[in-house]
Amino acid sequence: MAMDFVKMEQGILSFWSEHGCFEKLRNKNKGNKRFRFLDGPITANNPMGIHHAWGRSIKDIFLRYKAMNGYSCHYRNGFDAQGLWVEVEVEKELGFKDKKDIESYGMDKFTRKCVERVKTYSDVITEQSKRLGQWMDWDNSYFTHTDENISAIWHFLKICNENGWIATSHRPMPWCPRCGTSLSEHEMSGSHKEITHTAVFAIAKMKNADFDALVWTTTPWTLSVNVALAVNPELDYALVKCKGLDKPLVMAKNAIKHVEGEKQVLRLLKGEELLGLEYETFFPLLPTQQDVAHKVIPWEAVGADEGSGIVHIAPGCGAEDYDLGKKFTLAEICPIDESGVFIDGYDFLTGKIASDAAEPVFEKLHGQGKLFKTHEYTHSYPVCWRCKTEVLFRLVQEWHIKTEEIRPRLIEAANTVKWEPAFIGKRMLDWLNNMGDWNISRKRFYGLPLPFYPCENCGYLTVIGSRDKLVKHGGETAKNLPELHRPWIDDVSIKCSSCGETVSRIPEVGDVWLDAGIVPFSTLGYFSDRSEWEQNFPAEWVIEMQEQVRLWFYSQLFMSVTITGKAPYERVQTNNWVLAEDGSKFSKTGLMIRFDEVADRMGADAARYLFAGASMANDVRFGFTLGEEARRKLLGFWNIYTFFMTYAEIDKPKIENKISNNLTDKWLSSRIATFICKAVKSYEVYNTTEVVREFESCVDDVSNWFVRINRRRFWKESLDADKQSAYNTLYHAIKAMAQTMAPIIPFMTEHIWQSMMPMYNAAVEESIHISTFPSTNDFDQAVLDDVEKVRAVIASTLKLRNEQNLKVKQPLSVLYLENSYKKLSEYEAVIREELNIKEITYLDDFGILSDEVASLNFQVAGRILKGDLNKVKSLCDNLTSDENTILVNSVKQGKYATIEGFDGELSADCFTITKKDKANITQSTDSPHVAINTEITPTLKVEGLYRELLRHCQLLRKEAGFSISDKVNLSFETDSEPIKPVLCTFADDIQRETLSEIKDIQKPVMHKKINLDGVDITISIE
Ligand SMILES: [Zn+2]
Ligand SMILES: [Zn+2]
Repeated sequence: MAMDFVKMEQGILSFWSEHGCFEKLRNKNKGNKRFRFLDGPITANNPMGIHHAWGRSIKDIFLRYKAMNGYSCHYRNGFDAQGLWVEVEVEKELGFKDKKDIESYGMDKFTRKCVERVKTYSDVITEQSKRLGQWMDWDNSYFTHTDENISAIWHFLKICNENGWIATSHRPMPWCPRCGTSLSEHEMSGSHKEITHTAVFAIAKMKNADFDALVWTTTPWTLSVNVALAVNPELDYALVKCKGLDKPLVMAKNAIKHVEGEKQVLRLLKGEELLGLEYETFFPLLPTQQDVAHKVIPWEAVGADEGSGIVHIAPGCGAEDYDLGKKFTLAEICPIDESGVFIDGYDFLTGKIASDAAEPVFEKLHGQGKLFKTHEYTHSYPVCWRCKTEVLFRLVQEWHIKTEEIRPRLIEAANTVKWEPAFIGKRMLDWLNNMGDWNISRKRFYGLPLPFYPCENCGYLTVIGSRDKLVKHGGETAKNLPELHRPWIDDVSIKCSSCGETVSRIPEVGDVWLDAGIVPFSTLGYFSDRSEWEQNFPAEWVIEMQEQVRLWFYSQLFMSVTITGKAPYERVQTNNWVLAEDGSKFSKTGLMIRFDEVADRMGADAARYLFAGASMANDVRFGFTLGEEARRKLLGFWNIYTFFMTYAEIDKPKIENKISNNLTDKWLSSRIATFICKAVKSYEVYNTTEVVREFESCVDDVSNWFVRINRRRFWKESLDADKQSAYNTLYHAIKAMAQTMAPIIPFMTEHIWQSMMPMYNAAVEESIHISTFPSTNDFDQAVLDDVEKVRAVIASTLKLRNEQNLKVKQPLSVLYLENSYKKLSEYEAVIREELNIKEITYLDDFGILSDEVASLNFQVAGRILKGDLNKVKSLCDNLTSDENTILVNSVKQGKYATIEGFDGELSADCFTITKKDKANITQSTDSPHVAINTEITPTLKVEGLYRELLRHCQLLRKEAGFSISDKVNLSFETDSEPIKPVLCTFADDIQRETLSEIKDIQKPVMHKKINLDGVDITISIE
C-alpha cells in the first residue's frame, strides 16, 4: 500500500486540532499526580534548527508517555526573548554596524523592533513545533522579556544585595568591540578560535645600563599603554650582542633562538639582576605616559617557552596585568572606547581600531629604532559568542555577583541531582569549583534592566526588588511605564533608601542567563500562587543541550539555591550536537538542514524516530538518507498493520477481548507483553534508544513469526472461530504496539488507531494519545522459549537446505531431530510447513540415522565418528584431504574392519564408491543439530514444481491488478510432458490457493510465459 506519510501527518494534525485532543488529554489527567517538567526557553530569534527538533522531540516523547500513564503534566513552553542575541539579529536586519547606529535610530524604536522579531519567530517556532507533533500549551508560552519575568529576576538580585553579594569593580573585561559590551566567563567558555596575529619583538631602551631589553607581545596595540616590564627573578637571562645593534640585548637564555644571524652571548645573569631598572617606554611622547615611572618588576609567572622572557605590562588591557598592577600600584590606562577605537590623546593611533593598529605601531617602533622583528603567531583566541568578533580586554566598570560565599551551597545542591550522562555532573562540579564572580552587567539596550540605583551622595546601593516596588518608589513616571525596558525605565528616578537623595538607575542591562535562570520561579507560580508552585518545584526532569551546563543549568541552580537553598531540578539530562550524515558539523559545511524541509520531505515521525533511536550522550547524525532508513524501519510495523487491514476490510470482524488457546496466539500475546515490559523499563529511565531497539526486535518477531506462519488463517474464506481468534490476537498486538510507540511516533500510531479501533466491540478513546498506556501483563515464558527453539531448528535447517542448494519450494521427505525436541511436537505442523518437509523423525543418538548400523568406529583427526553406512559415506565425502589420507592409511594398516553391508574392505576405493552412491542424508554442523534426507523422489519433484507454479500464478494475479478477494480464471499451456502430472495432481490446490477456476480462456487480461525447471509454460488469467 503506497502511503503518503507526510500527507497523512497533516491530516492527523487537523484531526487533533478539530477534536481538541490535547485539551481533552489535559482534562482527563486534571488533578492527578503531577509530572514536574520544566521547559528551558528556546531563543525566539530565528526559525527552529534541526538540533532543536531533537530536544523538542525527546521532551514531547516523555510528556506523552507520562500523560498516557495518567500524570498531569506541565506543558508550558518557553521563549528566550531578550538580550544580545536578539539585538545582534535586529542590527543585522537593519544593517547596523555598531551601537552608535542604534542610538541614532532611537532606542525606543530599536526595542520595539526587537520585540517584533521575538513575536515573529516565536510564532514561526510554535508552528514548527506543532508540525513536529509537539503537544504544549501553545497559547500560554512564557517569554523572558515580560515584566513578570524581569520583576522575578529583580527579586533574586535584591536577595543577592541583602546577602552582600552585589559588587561593582573597575577592571579589564573581555570585551566585544562590535557589540560594545563585556562578556562573562560562561559566555567565553567554548568560544575560542584558532587565529593568526602578527606578534612583535620590540626593543625597550634601558636607562643607566649598557644594554637594552627584548620584549615580546601578541597584542601590539597595547604597547601604547605599557607601564612596566616584568621578568622572572629565578630565570636565566643572557646579554646578547646582535649584528647591527649598538647595544647588546637582554633576553631569556631560552629566547636566544629568536635572534637570527650573527650573535654573541656576552654573559649570563639571573632575572633578579634586572629588577628595578628603568627604561624608556615604546611611545614615551603620548600624554598618558608622561607621569609613569617605567621600571622592571618581578613576576614568577613569566616563562621563556614563548617570547623573550621579558613581558610588557599594560594593566588597562588584560586581567592578569591588572592584578599584577594592583600589587605594584601601576597606572591603569585604557586607550580604547567601547567600539575598540583609540580615544583622543593617542597621536597616530587616535581613531584607529585596536585590531588595525599593528602596522602603524610597527612603523612607529621602527622609526625609533625599537623594532627588532615581527612574525606570524597562531593561537587559540577568544571571540564573541554572538557575533564572532575577536575579543579585546578593556578596562570598564561592571557589576558582579560575588560567588565565594554561595559556592559550597551550589556544590552541595549539584550533588543531589542525577546527571545524565554522568560526566555532565562532573563538568558542573568543575565549573562550580573554578567559577569566578558572575559578571551580570552588559552595556546594551534591549535586555533586563538591572534595578541598581547607586547613590553618589552617600554611596548606598538601592536595589529594587519588584515592579510593584518600582511603581511605589518611582512616582508618576514609574506608574506610566509601558514596560520594564530601556529607554523608558531610564527616566524613572527614585529616592535613595539611605539619604533620600534622588538617584537614577545604572544604564546597564543584565546577562541573558539571568533571564532564563529565573524561570523555575517566574513561570511556575512562585510569585502568584505559592501552593501551586510547591507542587511544580523542583522539576523532576529537565533536558537541554550539553552546552547548557554552564549556562541555563548553572544560572537556574545559582538562582534557585539563592532563593530556596535547593536545586531546581532532580534529574538533568542532556543531548549533544546534530551532525550531517557524513559526520561533519553543519556549521562547518555551511550546510544546514532546515526543519521545514525535514517536515515536508521526511515527515515528523521519521525524524522523531531517528532522534529517539540515537544515544543522547553522543552526537547524532541527521540527513535525508538516514531519514529514509528510519522510514524503512517504520515500514516493518506499518506492513503488519496493512496485513491485518487487508483481510479485516474484507471480513469486517468484530474484535473481541478473548484469549485463544491457539499456540501462536498465545505466543503473540506473550511476545507483546515482554515488549511492553522492556519498553516501560526504558521509558522510566528516560531511555528512548532502548525502546526503539526493543520495538524493532518485536516487529521483526511478529512479522517473521506470527504473520508468516498464520497467513493461512487469514486467507481462509470463512470467518470461523479460528480466524476470529487470529484477528483478535493480532488486533490487540498491533493496538498495544501502537500505544507503546505513540509517544515516539505520534502520527503513524494515531492513523492506525483511527482506522482499527472502530472494529473493537467496546468503547475506545477518541485519540491514541488519550488512551491509557498498555499495562505490563504477565507472560508465558515457556511459550516464548519453545518458539525460540522451534525458530532455531527452522533456521538451522534452512541453512542446511541452502548449503545443499535445495530451494524451500522443493518438498523433502524427512527431517531428523534429537529426541529432546519431542516435547515441541505441538509445533510439528509449523515446522513441517515452514521447512516444506513431509515428516519429522526423532533420534536418540544422532549418530544413528537409520537401522543400517555399521560396526564402524574409527578415529579421524582426533574426532570419534560413529555411524551407519550412509553416514560414513557422507562423512567420507566431507573429509578433508588430510583426514582422507589418515583414514586410508589406517585402513591399510588393518586397524579397521570391514563395514557390514559393504562388499569388500574399506579402502581407498571406498571413496569412489561413496561418491558414486547417493549420500542422501546431510547434517547440520552447528546447533541445533538437524539432518535432512536430500533425496528428491519423483513425487516430491512434482510437488516442488507445483509450488513454483503456484508462486507464478499468485504473482500474475497481483500483476494483473486483481485484489485479494477477486475470483479469477486461469489456463495453462504447455507441450511438455513432465508438467502434466503437476496440473493433474494439483489442479484443486491451485484453484483453492489462487481463488480461481482452471478453464480455457479466450481473452486473457494478461498472460505470461514462464520457465519451470527447463520447461516452458504459458499462464493466462481473466
Ligand atoms: Zn559581539
Ligand atoms: Zn544616599
